[in-house]
Amino acid sequence: MSAPRRLLARLRHLMAHGAVPLAELARLVAAELVTEVCSVYVLRPGDILELAATEGLRPDAVGRTRLRVGEGIIGLVAATGQALNLPDAQNHPAFAYRPETGEEPYASLLAVPVRRAGGTLGVLAVQNRAPRRYDADEVEVLETVAMLLAELLAAAGAGDGAEQGFSATVPRRFGGTMLVGGIAVGPVVRLGRPPAPRRVLAEDTAKELARLAEATASMQHGLDKLISDRLPGGDAPREVLDAYRLVATDAGWLRRVQEAIRGGLSAEAAVHRVGNDLRDRMRRIADPYLRERLADIEDMVARLLRALDGEALVAAVPAGAILLARRLGPAELLDWHARGIAGVVIEDASGAGHAAIIARALGLPALGGARGALEAAEAEDEALLDADEGLLVLRPEQELKAAYQRELEARCERQARWAVLRDRPSRTADGTAVTLMLNVGLPLELAQLEATGAAGIGLFRTEIAMLARGEVGDVPEQQAVYARVLDAAAGRPVVFRTLDLGSDKMLPGAPAAVEENPAMGWRSLRVALDRPAVMRRQVRALLLAADGRDLTVMFPMVATVAEFRAARALLLAEAARVRPAPGRLSIGTMLEVPALLWQLDELLREVHFVSIGTNDLMQFVFAADRGTPGMAARYDVLSPAMLNLLAMFSARATLAGVPVSVCGEAAGKPLEAMTLAALGMTTLSMAAGGLLAVKEVLAAIDLPAFRAVLASIRRTGGGESSLREPIAGWAREHGLPI
Ligand code: PEP
Ligand code: MG
Repeated sequence: MSAPRRLLARLRHLMAHGAVPLAELARLVAAELVTEVCSVYVLRPGDILELAATEGLRPDAVGRTRLRVGEGIIGLVAATGQALNLPDAQNHPAFAYRPETGEEPYASLLAVPVRRAGGTLGVLAVQNRAPRRYDADEVEVLETVAMLLAELLAAAGAGDGAEQGFSATVPRRFGGTMLVGGIAVGPVVRLGRPPAPRRVLAEDTAKELARLAEATASMQHGLDKLISDRLPGGDAPREVLDAYRLVATDAGWLRRVQEAIRGGLSAEAAVHRVGNDLRDRMRRIADPYLRERLADIEDMVARLLRALDGEALVAAVPAGAILLARRLGPAELLDWHARGIAGVVIEDASGAGHAAIIARALGLPALGGARGALEAAEAEDEALLDADEGLLVLRPEQELKAAYQRELEARCERQARWAVLRDRPSRTADGTAVTLMLNVGLPLELAQLEATGAAGIGLFRTEIAMLARGEVGDVPEQQAVYARVLDAAAGRPVVFRTLDLGSDKMLPGAPAAVEENPAMGWRSLRVALDRPAVMRRQVRALLLAADGRDLTVMFPMVATVAEFRAARALLLAEAARVRPAPGRLSIGTMLEVPALLWQLDELLREVHFVSIGTNDLMQFVFAADRGTPGMAARYDVLSPAMLNLLAMFSARATLAGVPVSVCGEAAGKPLEAMTLAALGMTTLSMAAGGLLAVKEVLAAIDLPAFRAVLASIRRTGGGESSLREPIAGWAREHGLPI
């Protein structure tokens, strides 16, 4: 029997006959792993790690050597939850020398966290005199011993002091980014990690493998059922769930679980162990889409543990609860939604992430970020979620809560009013027609065309479906998606934007070039022109999907007319080949890069239309990163600079007879939308959530009267950073629903 297996077998034997003294555990580990030192540090109240047992260090240091979490190498392992394997520990920047331990002679150190149910209970460390890096088997064995140690410590009540703390009552605010707009008020539910396995080691490997196989089959079956039963309208966000299913049936991680079982672990301990490894890997991966994949696996680990436990996910959730989670997989979110949550906060989430995509399909208010909220929340807490404002308040003051409850009621009433508006033509009070279109990224959002009565799709972000799938997809796959969009639009116009990847929208496996300013880096059309094969495939798929129908294509992030010409040439070359040829082929550009404003004569001669992307345009005009929370809201579309720019552009385009639309977030907000309309931009494309609100305000406004007022506000407010207040003041005076 190998030393590691012998060690585990002996520990199993000892544990079966009662608690194992920590000193005995340290002695056994040192003997079997041939290390000169093995020490156990235990977390005490006040975030202090105390040396609780040692083999090899001075015995009188036990109970005396204490480190804060974060202090020294041991403290660092506890703080990060990550193992450290150091051939020369004393020269590590975090090393903290404690003379009472007598550890000077030991060069190498391997320290692993002792974790249970998401919390850290201590650290287990081994040391040797000779500088060496411990091999993968040794790391694995020490991690397994740490799992056993976690059970021993939990049984002895360690960590209780740290967990109890005092009950907080003061309100706390957390900022985050909106994933799906909306507000909610309700009790919090914290999504912890799955409970630690009750049984860590198992004698009968064959039996454990059989249990795993049975649980895997039951999990996969449950997943299929969940997806078919619970998705809104039965129309699966197929891109997300296909990717998710792939992970569920991926042999790679299941094989790792099987290996851990063969190493002597119970099925649940093996799954748990692979889950922990994944979390560690996730902490080290910056690529948001790879992290998303790993989050899917984490979700599945939790489901598999429940299947092994023979337990369904049935625990009751208070009505209207707000779920707080560190990460959340798509299937898990579906489960929670079915149990009646009213909102969700996901610390580690991006707007294009799987959970966010599902939340959007469910219309569930969702906030990303809000770091620290999960730790700060207590079991009985109430919370207030304002995803529109990127805000979560734990334990909100009574008055604030009451104000939000009133707002919720007002929103319900508004929904009822909007339902009536849906089928009315979109016109201002004076009769000016304003075309309201939708911004769409996934085929599942096509249902919103009917729900909102939109005139068409003003921006189809082709990259979103690909990001959800995790790959670009070949021509037939892309063609199927685009054809589905055109079918759903049923003759209404659709503006397809070619791939806008890069910056915050990275595909897994994309070149991981480190750029200081990715938003201004090698992204979007720049990539497409440098690597034309991808773009060629995409436009071919678009042309084939059109199948003789009209086709409208626009290019993102165009900075020079020459770039527009190059992209158009690529499209026209494909169009010349594809049969049947499209009906009318309209080719336009986004206006996101300010440089285009100084090439207007040439640009307006060449394009069929321009769509203004205020999101990127704002960040480049003001040099303010749209993705940085403190920066995103610092400058206003309703500022003299932007209004001057938009007015000038609108006038020039009108003169040249080039249609202009706006498809940035600004178009979907009532006050901004009426201002844009007054400046002559009467085609607005927006997320579905804003469309009826915009329609309502437009229906109430006398545009010529407002145009005159706006001109005067702009004349007098030239030096201000925003003209929002005077514009909103006028709107309020006239009873407009802004
Ligand atoms: C924009 O930049 O305004 C825009 C609509 O494009 P995206 O938000 O996809 O960058
Ligand atoms: Mg953009």
